[in-house]
Amino acid sequence: MPPRTRFAPSPTGYLHIGSVRTALYAWLYARRHGGEYILRIEDTDRERSTQEAVDAILNGLDWLGLDADEGPIYQTQRFGRYREVLDRLLEQDKAYRCYCTREEIDAMRAAAMDKGEKPRYDGRCRSGDRVRGDVEPVVRFKNPLSGEVVLDDLVKGRIVFDNAELDDLIIARSDGTPTYNFTVVVDDADMRITHVIRGDDHVNNTPRQINMFRALGVEPPAYAHLPMIHGPDGAKLSKRHGAVNVLEYRAMGFLPQALLNYLLRLGWSHGDQEIFTLEEMQRLFDLDKVSRSAASFDPMKLLWVNQQHIQAAPEEQLVGLLRGQLEAQGVDPASGPPLELTVEALRERSQTILEMAEQAHCYYEEYEELDEKSAKAHLRPVAREVLVDLREAFGALDDWSESATQQVVERVAEGRGVKLGKVAQPLRVALTGRAASPGIGVTLVLVGKARTLERIDRALRYVDSRGQ
Ligand code: GLU
Repeated sequence: MPPRTRFAPSPTGYLHIGSVRTALYAWLYARRHGGEYILRIEDTDRERSTQEAVDAILNGLDWLGLDADEGPIYQTQRFGRYREVLDRLLEQDKAYRCYCTREEIDAMRAAAMDKGEKPRYDGRCRSGDRVRGDVEPVVRFKNPLSGEVVLDDLVKGRIVFDNAELDDLIIARSDGTPTYNFTVVVDDADMRITHVIRGDDHVNNTPRQINMFRALGVEPPAYAHLPMIHGPDGAKLSKRHGAVNVLEYRAMGFLPQALLNYLLRLGWSHGDQEIFTLEEMQRLFDLDKVSRSAASFDPMKLLWVNQQHIQAAPEEQLVGLLRGQLEAQGVDPASGPPLELTVEALRERSQTILEMAEQAHCYYEEYEELDEKSAKAHLRPVAREVLVDLREAFGALDDWSESATQQVVERVAEGRGVKLGKVAQPLRVALTGRAASPGIGVTLVLVGKARTLERIDRALRYVDSRGQ
């Protein structure tokens, strides 16, 4: 039977790195085994759920290409169904109304604490003879009193829970709204989910959920609980570690496939392979190689993975991203060389598209300031005559190709009897404002003839002002 997995975020905050990894694993597992992946929005907590968060989740998943075969299915659209199942459980005496007041529950808690026990509901309404007119009851699930729940977790291995440790969970509040553990079970059952892949902060909910599956007469799914992701400092990954919203990674110039690749490796391995294409991810992923221990988020490695993907990415993708990034920075991509040229010149030198765009600025508009260190080192009075030669030769050059411009640089160096670097470096600083750029011929092509002449003049003015 092909698997059916789901990703079930609660829209109470942005889609963050940890949830994306959960979604990715559920998506990949379904893709790998020819199954289906369902997106379910768990929005029953109406006070904490927001439309903004729903949008951020949908946009984030969309950006990453984690497309769902079904959904988004909103839990708030399913209240009728929850009511139906609740009534059935009540009818079958698998759930009961609990009339305990706040005070009673508090007293129960205090008594348990006094005895050094875990606070738990003592089941006093379980027999159904405490009906009261003055209290709106909650509904509790009748958890089995004895026996064990054995969870053979696909990541964590076997975990055994004692039913005696589990109290009767509230499955509907006094206003009739269903609670999280109940809606998850109804949905996972109705949606015929075969594999629940989620964060291990849910492990303790699992035995209760398994008991509810059994009460509904449905075979529980298999579970895979994923270990947490820690920040580089060892603490649980949080806002402090940067990007809260996964879309911020897009703004920072990460490629979706790179982020997925990085998150794939954060808790899963395939030998020592680090870089995976999307096709490989879908072909190779499986749950048996998911690590049992917590993973540590490493921003430097993410940058490296991004750089690898930038080098391998199709040109059209990079062109589109670079265009977007330049426009976002107020630079007109039409005011310089074709973006294809820029991408090919810079893709090996950029860890992010943001970095690529920063390097590309000077090919589309005047750079603002000369980098001081570069200018001091290379635009010295001795460079004056070299720049003057270049100015003259370039002015007379019609074939503005990489090889022809490069030859001009070589000839000027020969003519002055200096090493190539003594010509290329001052020229590079003149052209880009700094001492690092692609090969000098490529840089000249990117800058174009008119700007080259203007910028040599600008550099000469700098040299002269320095000499005084
Ligand atoms: N809505 C839950 C959460 O966001 C996930 C529930 C589940 O995966 O079972 O933590």
